[in-house]
Amino acid sequence: MIKLPIPYGRQEITDEDIAAVVEILKSDFLTQGPTIEEFEKAFAKYVGVKYAVAVANGTAALHLSVLALGVKPGQKVITTPITFAASANCIMYAGGIVDFCDINPLTYTIDIKKVEEKLSSAPLGTYAGIIPVDLAGYPVNTEQLRNIAKKYNVWILEDACHAPGGGFYDSNNVFQKCGNCNYVDATVFSFHPVKHIATGEGGMITTNNKELYEKLLILRTHGITRRPDLLTEIHGNWYYQMIMLGYNYRLTDIQAALGISQLKRADANLKRRYEIANLYFNKLKDIKQIILPYIENNIFHAFHLFIIQTSKRKELYDFLRTKQIYCQVHYIPIHTFLYYKQLGWKKGDFPIAEAYYAKCLSLPMYPSLSDEQVDYVIENIKNFFSND
Ligand SMILES: *Cc1c(COP(=O)(O)O)cnc(C)c1O
Repeated sequence: MIKLPIPYGRQEITDEDIAAVVEILKSDFLTQGPTIEEFEKAFAKYVGVKYAVAVANGTAALHLSVLALGVKPGQKVITTPITFAASANCIMYAGGIVDFCDINPLTYTIDIKKVEEKLSSAPLGTYAGIIPVDLAGYPVNTEQLRNIAKKYNVWILEDACHAPGGGFYDSNNVFQKCGNCNYVDATVFSFHPVKHIATGEGGMITTNNKELYEKLLILRTHGITRRPDLLTEIHGNWYYQMIMLGYNYRLTDIQAALGISQLKRADANLKRRYEIANLYFNKLKDIKQIILPYIENNIFHAFHLFIIQTSKRKELYDFLRTKQIYCQVHYIPIHTFLYYKQLGWKKGDFPIAEAYYAKCLSLPMYPSLSDEQVDYVIENIKNFFSND
């Protein structure tokens, strides 16, 4: 018996995960306890970075990062229209202006050449930063992006919500894991249940910049600090000050414990994502109506999503639903949403992103998907196209 329905993504929770959560529930700290730092250290080690800051969700991670990196009123930040809305919204939260840039038709990630065209055709200071997104788990070549960003004095915030464990080989053939921040100022991750590591809600910011790190810690908790070197007066042991306008974007210890437990399986689960991807690649390659994911030689994909393209996207999506296979579309181009249209964007602004959206479909992809379930998906796709 094949387990149905099959969603496009889902969490995997083990008995060990449950035990880790129960342990926290019986402990002294449900939040603001020692498990947060433990999770941050473990995650920093996993991606190979100096500092990590755990926050309430990926959107909070984006918001705090843009605030800490800085955007002056009226300054622009570049991102891709093919991403989750939060990658753009965070710029608005921080008082900046969103500027979209079209995608590369092969990788579906931001077109680095077009980013440079934008930066080079505006007066210096027009742009504050760039937010590249590792769509589906395809890491953006941040070395190339850094070489451009340097020239125009803009920061880079990598949205790697899809890409924990992924990375690319740079021009010196050194592997650069997403989140290690060798070529970017900060990287954000999400621990929403469809992502690689699930904590219910949750997020992480990584950076090698100590100043940025310390600012993020303060912004995460109302802008409040107890650090003696930052206080202008001290009345007693109870004393703290609020030195900037921050938020309550804390993660709980309950979630952190779940995150630590999940992180232990990150590599094994990534391996399973590869097995599933290989089944799709091998068994779908002969269907000429489908375009399979493109992967450059220097790329280690994280396969958050397995995105195909077909001109029969809606028909295939509807057909698979009748078989209890629930695919998804990632993403509706952000610039075509009503909110962004009101800001002046319109259909036709980014033809490559829009052409991609017309055909893209994300097939089921998550570690607990069995070979039988993958075969069931493949058989149904084959059946759909067999009458074509
Ligand atoms: C999930 C996701 C986010 C937001 O993360 P949340 O934890 O849901 O707030 C941001 N960017 C991308 C690309 C995502 O996939």
